[in-house]
Amino acid sequence: MGTVITGSAGGIGAATRARLEERGERVIGVDVRDAEVIADLSSAAGREAMVAGVAHACGGVLDGLVAGAGIAGGPGELVGAVNWFGALATLEGLRPMLARGTAPAAVAISSNSTTCQPHSAELVDAFLAGDEEAALALAARDATGIGVYPATKLALARWVRRHAVQSDWIGAGIRLNAVAPGLIHTPMTADGIDFVLSLGDTYPVPVDRAGLASEVAALIDLLLGADGGFFCGSVVLMDGGTEAALRPDDWPLAPS
Ligand code: NAD
Repeated sequence: MGTVITGSAGGIGAATRARLEERGERVIGVDVRDAEVIADLSSAAGREAMVAGVAHACGGVLDGLVAGAGIAGGPGELVGAVNWFGALATLEGLRPMLARGTAPAAVAISSNSTTCQPHSAELVDAFLAGDEEAALALAARDATGIGVYPATKLALARWVRRHAVQSDWIGAGIRLNAVAPGLIHTPMTADGIDFVLSLGDTYPVPVDRAGLASEVAALIDLLLGADGGFFCGSVVLMDGGTEAALRPDDWPLAPS
């Protein structure tokens, strides 16, 4: 029993962990360091170790899951391997344990880069098609990973929307949603925050500050818990107004 948080040693993961533990909930952290389950989600072997380690720690029964492990840059194939294939293996691999839980819920951490940064539709499709070797070969063309990042997060948001409403998820009683944070103050962004806040109209942040990991944790907590019981397949933006400022009329896109 308990809630698994991948990326539990990082900014948003650690803040979520602290919030749940403050009221006595059991958290099983998964990370490459400082976690109950040490696993590198960039590789098939690491993902298998993650599923086995979590099963051992929780006795095969989970109530909550936060798929949060991620990296912002690096070789494109690594960004794809961690952010997309690692998150996918987490959601798929731990789903059977959630199905045995009490009022189970899962939250994936997407990003407002899905709609605020350019992405390669070909790469998003390749991720969703699921052939890891082929998709990572495409991702490897981006040496910085900066273009791969929004594609991983868009694939994740689409996967959540596609699967949340299916028999394996809500049909099995598991609510699945995603959060899409904007600029959040964490170790991932610490060096770039001032630069991003100086971009002005290119990347406006109307609240005029970076968000806090604790603010994202509060949203994740809502989506995991009983007060979030009507959220299913939602991708919830929390970005200080960036998306609204850049694309005020792009929501909703009603069927024509
Ligand atoms: P962070 O760097 O503080 O934390 C990320 C955690 O993931 C770290 O503890 C790291 O060790 C872990 N991790 C990285 N690679 C891993 C691997 N191969 N296997 C297992 N664990 C691994 O970053 P954060 O800002 O807390 O990011 C958490 C999530 O939120 C990420 O998915 C990120 O893409 C997303 N996000 C962050 C922001 C932001 O502005 N900080 C905005 C939108 C989305």
